Amino acid sequence: MSTEFQGKHVTVAGLGVSGVPAAKVLHGLGARVTVVNDGADERARAQAAELEALGVTVRLGDADTLPEGTDLIVTAPGWKPTKPLFTAAAEAGVPVWGDVELAWRLRGENAAPWLAVTGTNGKTTTVRMLASILRAAGLRTAAVGNIGVSLLDAVTGEQEYDVLAVELSSYQLHWAPSLRAHSAAVLNLAPDHLDWHGSMDAYAADKGSVYEGNQVACVYNVADKATEDLVREADVEEGCRAIGFTLGAPAPSQLGVVDGILVDRAFVENRQKNAQELAEVADVNPPAPHNIANALAAAALARAYGVPAAAVRDGLRAFTPDAHRIAHVADVDGVAYVDDSKATNTHAAEASLAAYGSVVWIAGGLAKGATFDELVAGAAGRLRGVVLIGADRALIAEALARHAPEVPVVDLDRTDTGAMLQAVQEARRLARPGDTVLLAPACASMDMFANYNQRGDAFAQAVRELGA
Ligand code: ADP
Repeated sequence: MSTEFQGKHVTVAGLGVSGVPAAKVLHGLGARVTVVNDGADERARAQAAELEALGVTVRLGDADTLPEGTDLIVTAPGWKPTKPLFTAAAEAGVPVWGDVELAWRLRGENAAPWLAVTGTNGKTTTVRMLASILRAAGLRTAAVGNIGVSLLDAVTGEQEYDVLAVELSSYQLHWAPSLRAHSAAVLNLAPDHLDWHGSMDAYAADKGSVYEGNQVACVYNVADKATEDLVREADVEEGCRAIGFTLGAPAPSQLGVVDGILVDRAFVENRQKNAQELAEVADVNPPAPHNIANALAAAALARAYGVPAAAVRDGLRAFTPDAHRIAHVADVDGVAYVDDSKATNTHAAEASLAAYGSVVWIAGGLAKGATFDELVAGAAGRLRGVVLIGADRALIAEALARHAPEVPVVDLDRTDTGAMLQAVQEARRLARPGDTVLLAPACASMDMFANYNQRGDAFAQAVRELGA
């Protein structure tokens, strides 16, 4: 066990998913822990009581001033770098770590290496595919980070791992300066969370930091040059290679697709001439283009770790996608109904619209400052019709008027719980046999629903009512 924290005064910024376990672990390591939290609601008070019973100090309602004598801050990843607490820390020369940095520092000797995944979209899917492939190779592993097991549990718990499949958000990377992955992938890069990072450059730099110090492979997206640029800028271990993934035929040091087969031209003997067959496109569930890209990225990381080709195929076959990610709900009168409620930004919606030939698109919600011109212009040729819901639907309606004036649009001016049923009924009226009715809102859900799960459930329920 680390003695590094004995007697140190550590301020944990933020109760909640990462703060409470961090405070407990640090307290257990002999640190003097103070937790500071902005709010003081009922949940915060209950969490505070639990920690105080252990001997942790908790300050509710003031998270701006730096507690006297703080040696280190461990922050919840979502906290903005511009917060007064961090300005005060910088002035006092106090380091700030996020939950990932803490986990990285606490991992023991001979700890399992990390295969890291970041990107604007596809992280959860890719990390879960990766864990499935590693498991198929007989390795002890888990999908950790923003999903499943928490990183802190994975590195401090009883369970032993050979290798970890780690999902990292841009926030977590921002606060994890010393993280050094075995290999890492940046899946794609599109504007998101810019209010937090301050600029696209700052967002890209935080994502790119996942490549710093990589040992074996930096995996990038051939179709997204920004990801390749990040590899070029990274400082890596000697011998670490840049590995691309592409939906086209792979060049040497790439994984790609040839005649419906996923092939590896990176981790093979004599890659100028040889390629290794990994799996069939049909082994990827669902076989939408962006999801095949996710599978290739997962395969690249697994291959970088030395996993045999057959395990890639078996792992992909064993993988089932999480709910609300291009989930096929039902076919009704020859029309497929697909729930991609998790498409909460335009980049994700663009990928899912690209997966279908003729679509009735259900979209709208909270735009989070996004613009829709590019998305609509790109998808116009595939739109049979559009049904708009939610607070910011006018923004999408305007983009449709500009770039797809012939496409019929139903604008639903209601946000009550029955709105989704009406949206699905309208979509059914617009659809022809062979079409897909696709819920890919390109927006957040909180104007009408608790979260994207509830939005997707409402869609699925409405589709079931159609079929009944
Ligand atoms: P994340 O964890 O990054 O949010 P998910 O795997 O949960 O990503 O997928 C979120 C949504 O992003 C999916 O519902 C899909 O619409 C879209 N998506 C998934 N993979 C990609 C990709 N490689 N490129 C673009 N969009 C994607």
